[in-house]
Amino acid sequence: MRVMSIRGKLLRKLAFLGIAAVAVNVLALEFFAVSELDQVDMARLNGRSIVIDPGHGGIDSGAEHHGLTEKDITLSVAGKLRNVLESHGAKVSFTRDGDTDYYTKGKGGKRNDLLRRVEIIETSGAELFISVHCNAVKGAQWFGSQVFYNPKDDRNKPLAEAMQLGLREYPPGNKRQAKQDLQILILNSVNIPGVLIETGYLTNPREAALLADPDYQQQLAEQIAKALAYHFSQAVGR
Ligand SMILES: [Zn+2]
Repeated sequence: MRVMSIRGKLLRKLAFLGIAAVAVNVLALEFFAVSELDQVDMARLNGRSIVIDPGHGGIDSGAEHHGLTEKDITLSVAGKLRNVLESHGAKVSFTRDGDTDYYTKGKGGKRNDLLRRVEIIETSGAELFISVHCNAVKGAQWFGSQVFYNPKDDRNKPLAEAMQLGLREYPPGNKRQAKQDLQILILNSVNIPGVLIETGYLTNPREAALLADPDYQQQLAEQIAKALAYHFSQAVGR
């Protein structure tokens, strides 16, 4: 019994040490990735071509909460992102650059709007796309920017994780992780690497106020651009 119990204790101790070692490893990896991302050379963006898809537009307002309209915020963040990327030598195009949509009359109008965006992305000649959205749910407590990807292309997960790392403090306390989603039409249909970013929850009053703030939008744009530069600096993004 005693031997068993000592062994049991030893095994538990070893198991604990094992878990602790894994946890330290994960933290260390995250720490290195964060500092690499924060010190990334933005010149990595030079010559890269990116297409930005500001979600919704025209007759499709997207989510509306706290006096804010998703289609306006997505276009504004997208514009700031374009400026940051272009200032570092990237070539940027948009699926829409005004308050417009591609809805068709009758059934399937929304689907056709999305398919037109897919077509624009595919024919843009860009190597990567970013779709920009805002989240909305029941319950005002939920917050945090989150990046979605489709695993059909191996490059999408590391891209989404880099992007999520860039957005880890947006807003402070954001614990969300990059998430795979097989249901998002644009992620399903486009054949170049890309992600969809839910920049934050319009249904959370504090986050809504941030999303409406041009300074916060600028910070989001800069973090997304940093994450892109980091992604391009990794072998997998080359
Ligand atoms: Zn949306």
